[in-house]
Amino acid sequence: MKHILLFGPPGAGKGTQAQLLVDKYKFIHLSTGDMLRDEIKRATDTGLKAKAIIDNGQLVPDEIVAEMVRSRIKNMKNDKVGIIFDGFPRTIAQARKLDEIMNAENQQISLMIAIDVHDDEIIKRIIERGKISQRSDDQDVITIKNRIDTYNNQTSVLADYYRQQGKFKSVAGIGAIEDIFAEICKIIDDSRKS
Ligand code: ADP
Repeated sequence: MKHILLFGPPGAGKGTQAQLLVDKYKFIHLSTGDMLRDEIKRATDTGLKAKAIIDNGQLVPDEIVAEMVRSRIKNMKNDKVGIIFDGFPRTIAQARKLDEIMNAENQQISLMIAIDVHDDEIIKRIIERGKISQRSDDQDVITIKNRIDTYNNQTSVLADYYRQQGKFKSVAGIGAIEDIFAEICKIIDDSRKS
């Protein structure tokens, strides 16, 4: 079974593309950002810890996020379905944890697909999204810039982690949503043939 990581900076369109992939291939969508926002909404311990960190544009500690992912995957009934990971892993430590979690389930990551978008475009997109999303971390330019810095300093190195394993592919994230989706589908379909 193929399990795929959607990768790229905040605002690259990972969530949008993940949803389209779920509709087409019936993947399970696992977004750690969505899971954390749900914890915040329910005012759980994790949510209370995460809120200030997220609003600051920083990363929630690896152990917390990895534990959330571990328990979600453990509770999945149907192991025949592929998972689309969106926003996880975001650090090398998280990638190592993910390998452990998947190994314990006799599964592995097949592919990382990166969506490339440059910083100026991202800032514009997130500000636009903030007008309708009500996401507190989408409202403020400082927070948005912090998120981009966090991505550049801690997350972008993951491309090499998966490149070294021969699992890395990328698409240009500028243009029509359906054109980007078609590129991603082509990568997935080609990888299924091999
Ligand atoms: P975006 O891709 O726009 O940054 P997400 O919903 O993926 O949106 O993430 C929102 C915030 O949630 C991040 O800025 C970070 O604070 C937190 N977060 C999400 N996923 C992770 C993760 N894997 N590790 C640490 N923090 C995370």
